[in-house]
Amino acid sequence: MTALPATPAPAPSGAGARTKIFTGPRILAGDGTEPEALAVRSGWIVAAGTRHDLRSAFPKAEEVALDGALVVPGFNDAHCHPSQAALARVRVDLNTLPNAGAVLSALRRQARRTPPGQWVVGQPLDERRVGVLDRDMLDQVSDSHPVLVVHYSLHRAVANSAGLAALGYRSPADAPPGGQLGVRADGRLDGHLVERAWLDPWLPGTGASSIAPYGTPSAQQAALKDVIAELHACGITSFCDALVTPAEQELYARTLAAGELTARVGMLLWHSYADPERLPGDGPDPLRLRTVGVKMMLDGALSGGTCLCRSPYPSATGTGNGLQILGDDEFTATVRAIDAAGGRVAVHANGDQAVQTVLDVIESLPRSGTRHRIEHCSLIDDSLAGRIARARLITVPFGPFVTLHGEKLLDYYGDRVDHICAHRTLRDAGIVVAGSSDYPLAPPDPLLAIRSLVTRTTAAGTTVGAGQRIGPQDAVDVYTRGSAAASDDESVKGTLAVGRLADLAVLDTDLTAAEPDALSEIRVRSTWVGGECVYTSRR
Ligand SMILES: [Zn+2]
Repeated sequence: MTALPATPAPAPSGAGARTKIFTGPRILAGDGTEPEALAVRSGWIVAAGTRHDLRSAFPKAEEVALDGALVVPGFNDAHCHPSQAALARVRVDLNTLPNAGAVLSALRRQARRTPPGQWVVGQPLDERRVGVLDRDMLDQVSDSHPVLVVHYSLHRAVANSAGLAALGYRSPADAPPGGQLGVRADGRLDGHLVERAWLDPWLPGTGASSIAPYGTPSAQQAALKDVIAELHACGITSFCDALVTPAEQELYARTLAAGELTARVGMLLWHSYADPERLPGDGPDPLRLRTVGVKMMLDGALSGGTCLCRSPYPSATGTGNGLQILGDDEFTATVRAIDAAGGRVAVHANGDQAVQTVLDVIESLPRSGTRHRIEHCSLIDDSLAGRIARARLITVPFGPFVTLHGEKLLDYYGDRVDHICAHRTLRDAGIVVAGSSDYPLAPPDPLLAIRSLVTRTTAAGTTVGAGQRIGPQDAVDVYTRGSAAASDDESVKGTLAVGRLADLAVLDTDLTAAEPDALSEIRVRSTWVGGECVYTSRR
């Protein structure tokens, strides 16, 4: 997890290194400059200035006239789950199924192809579309296969009777710490598994085998390519995959070795696979693929109403304050061990109580240069923001959640929404704020997130915490420079300055002049990674 060199390796200038000059629409370089043209060689920006000057300096260069209205640095989604999205497609893919009947039929087909006793897994479950599933319904799929349907939030799942038996769950008391088992009025388990009740067998750690089926390597790789192509179509050139195990690390490494990893990928390794004595080092091409930290999950979900808050709210768990997933002792010991080994922790903490716990532990560490991350960091106040700034923590709050879930946030958290997804408070405190969709929990489109950050209104027009609004260029800054800093990449990414990678997105509208509500309608014309086109809206 070593940091990248502060200055990039010089681009080769000899034979074979061809220079391109990018011209066309307005270029917002992200560092306050607006060069008319960019010269690119071997993937790096080697000069910026007027078209005339660059043409004189590089007379043999190929000119690329970009089609569109605005060029911005390529978007960087600092917390999303592309490998989980890809692997969901090699399991029973529930994405487009219209109702519970279709879900059960698809699972039954998979059960017929699966040896008895092996897991049949479908995802993502979206109850808004297919309704609520339970153990009895999944028992109609098979009584000789354990069956699991995983909610799109990755915070809960539903199992059939064979699944509950395979996991050793007979009564509510069998739930592990940090997990819950759903129970019917008559005391019988209803099949619902919350947080660690399904997550521990799904991500069991080094040496144990997961209940998750992984499909064939070629099916995995094809699905990952499709997912990355969809991200490129949103202008995304870099992302940090916020949950990998060795299986997903291997999938990315294979894709890189095949020359098919068109995005730049950072990875957060799930803590139960991270050995402090042997933290992953940089691979063969760290500008394409590297591990940037160790992921832990301290509390529940923001839009699911399970995050850990200081004061009570109508939480979905019925516990009053939400759910703590990792116990204090295990959390503290893991943070200390990773920090002592020179690694970065990236802690999922949504509620203000969870954020406070992260700060308590990090403030107690011996001083080191490592800048740890708080993933989501959803509910804060000025005092927590001050502590985050002093500890030089990086925050990775949700981008599009106010537009997507604003009404639900109001229902759960009331007036506290003024301090949820607090981009303005965090930026004003001088804290690094990265952009994040949490895809596939939300659409990956950064322009939807930018609309949310700028308007703080829902799709239905409800305003949620207007005091947290930021301007459109600041929102772009979150999704470019902020995200680059969240993986120590600010020396090579995040702006279109000389010496940075030529990663850029071309938009069909100048977002600085767009109506705020219409920001999410802006489309990407083309996306470029290292000066190579990875997406164009033209066929
Ligand atoms: Zn996540």
